[in-house]
Amino acid sequence: MDPKVYINGKLFEKSEARISVFDHGLLYGDGVFEGIRSYSGRVFRLTQHVDRLYESARAIHLEIPIPRAAMADAVVQTLAANKLTDAYIRVVVTRGAGSLGLDPRKTTDPQIIIITDKIALYPPELYEHGLKIVTAATTRNHPNAVNPRIKSLNYLNNILAKIEATQAGCLEALMLNHKGELAECTGDNVFVVQHGTIHTPSIDSGILEGITRASVIDLAREAGYPVIERTMDRLDVFKADECFLTGTAAELIPVIECDGRIIGDGKPGPITRELLKRFQALVREGH
Ligand code: PMP
Repeated sequence: MDPKVYINGKLFEKSEARISVFDHGLLYGDGVFEGIRSYSGRVFRLTQHVDRLYESARAIHLEIPIPRAAMADAVVQTLAANKLTDAYIRVVVTRGAGSLGLDPRKTTDPQIIIITDKIALYPPELYEHGLKIVTAATTRNHPNAVNPRIKSLNYLNNILAKIEATQAGCLEALMLNHKGELAECTGDNVFVVQHGTIHTPSIDSGILEGITRASVIDLAREAGYPVIERTMDRLDVFKADECFLTGTAAELIPVIECDGRIIGDGKPGPITRELLKRFQALVREGH
């Protein structure tokens, strides 16, 4: 069966799903998006993802032409139409087609697009053995430029860091903010464990407020681990007992090396493993 893609209230065969080449989403990366997952037919944290989408849109002065509840319904219906239960869902809202100028007032009709697909996971052995990462020379966006809290279609900054990761033979790269402090990875938030306490960069470090990050903070606190959100730097990673990344696609993945420094004993640590188990139970069994 050809996958079906939702565009503005209608479902199209993948090969027929098209938008204008004059869309400012394409011309300027002018728009917002979300990456969401469903497990056994249940969409994880749908309300939070929809809320973040509308907040990102508001931040860029883009009015999404349907209410939040209708957006949530559209996600569920697109999944059902594709008969997918365990899926990755991409929601995109573009500024719409316009003239060849930056001015958003010269555009009409924001395009609402929902794509669902089977989830492409990191290979299972990486969850077993952990990831190696490097620090990218590309700085995470300054909050007064495109604020990292906005999940905009303009991901080029992160793509540049991702290219650095790839060239170093890694799957992820750590990004620092304009002050040289730890921010996040190109598509994941970062955590370290030291002496039984969990540390992660605070939102004002210039990061996306990850929905997985928030879930993992809650899980960790429920499990009795203190969690501190604070200003951090690379040394916090180098001297950590454990390190892991969180994101919708990755869930929670251990990191065992950064910039050639072995983290802890070079194996995924016990707290990382416990949180991964708890997270998987939460998403898959709903507890
Ligand atoms: N940081 C960035 C830059 C991201 O793009 C993402 C999402 N892929 C995350 C963090 C993780 O956010 P979430 O847990 O909401 O997927």
